[in-house]
Amino acid sequence: MEVILVPAFADNYIYVLRDAASGKVGVVDPGDAAPVQAELERRGWSLTHIFLTHHHDDHIGGAAALKDRYRASVVGARADAHRIPGLDVALGDGARTVFGEQTARVFAVPGHTSGHIAFWFEAAETLFSGDTLFSLGCGRLFEGTPAQMWESLQSLRALTDQTRVYCGHEYTQSNGRFALTVDPANDALHQRMEEVAGLRARNQPTIPTTIGMERRTNPFLRADDPGVQSAIGMAGAPAVEVFAELRRRKDHFRG
Ligand SMILES: [Zn+2]
Repeated sequence: MEVILVPAFADNYIYVLRDAASGKVGVVDPGDAAPVQAELERRGWSLTHIFLTHHHDDHIGGAAALKDRYRASVVGARADAHRIPGLDVALGDGARTVFGEQTARVFAVPGHTSGHIAFWFEAAETLFSGDTLFSLGCGRLFEGTPAQMWESLQSLRALTDQTRVYCGHEYTQSNGRFALTVDPANDALHQRMEEVAGLRARNQPTIPTTIGMERRTNPFLRADDPGVQSAIGMAGAPAVEVFAELRRRKDHFRG
């Protein structure tokens, strides 16, 4: 499965997918239709599927126009059926959805929003995590509790190490500046930040990351790590409380 990054707005990524075996073409979280349409036209592709992770406008804003133009099928969360216009395929946790020769498994990952889902394409080991899991960070808790988000992140953390992670925003460098304040002795994090600095200096994306990389470097997946816990003065505390404290600190971080 081919994945193409389409930058949108200040720091969003929209993803165009193509299953080579079937020729099906999908898009994930088209907040804006115009750059997606331009990419499709440049490649001579039509669009068959629109995958939506959550209801925020910078993720769904272009979906209706693309559906209208290409007669594509809109796939999203059943829990958000009331606030995703034009939803055709409404899915819950554990559902599987077919995209050409690929199958995506749906994870319900509440926290950023109550209905947020992630799509894991099993054979391609490719995750679309929306605004739940970012590289070196996680989404703000607009509609959920720390306990919900921690559980959501644990379900994504359990995916294969080599799973490529495509998230909704290019936030890696600012996330990493915060991560260094709560996990300062983590060599893998320092190395990743050097790599990220090089990429951003050349105006290149830091995405995709991998689950293995995030397990080693993302503090929000490491609330049960003794190094993170002692760095913030919470050695031995329940992971969910450590996670809540990390999220609180990040909300107030000015890096
Ligand atoms: Zn969002």
